[in-house]
Amino acid sequence: MIEGQSVLFEMAAVYERTAAKGSLRKTKNFRRSTAERRHFYDALVLRMKNEFGIAIRKWRRSMNGVAYELHYNNGEVKRMVAAPRPRSPVSACIFLHEVGHHAIGFKKFRPRCLEEYHVWQWAFEQMRKNGVPIDEHVKRHYRRSMRHYVRLAKKRGLKSLPAQLEEFAVAA
Ligand SMILES: [Zn+2]
Repeated sequence: MIEGQSVLFEMAAVYERTAAKGSLRKTKNFRRSTAERRHFYDALVLRMKNEFGIAIRKWRRSMNGVAYELHYNNGEVKRMVAAPRPRSPVSACIFLHEVGHHAIGFKKFRPRCLEEYHVWQWAFEQMRKNGVPIDEHVKRHYRRSMRHYVRLAKKRGLKSLPAQLEEFAVAA
């Protein structure tokens, strides 16, 4: 029986189809065939599941994800992730970002936008370790995500922004 759950809602999809062309060309040599790519990303998912004890709630069709824990009466905790199935650097970075929330732990950093920042750095570290290119498309997604969380924090009255987040503060 589920006693409670802590849910972390991520931003809405910011994926832009029109912008995909350039980065697709750039990463053409990354994995040559579709089958190779699928195999590569499926292996990545399996490693993440084993290493960080996460379960996939569902694969989403949209380019956004969520990470949450289920707490059971017997003390058991399940670490859940819903994200797009990794099939490209961008879908992989969204998936790894959600795994990162579990790896880092909830509410380890405050404010929330700083937590998001650290989770992104964790995801990039995993991408480098696992040979997933951090291409322009990934960087754009990251910047938009961070701007969103910084904007949200300011709207909620955050007075002093941590120094590493200043670049994401856009004048209104
Ligand atoms: Zn997040």
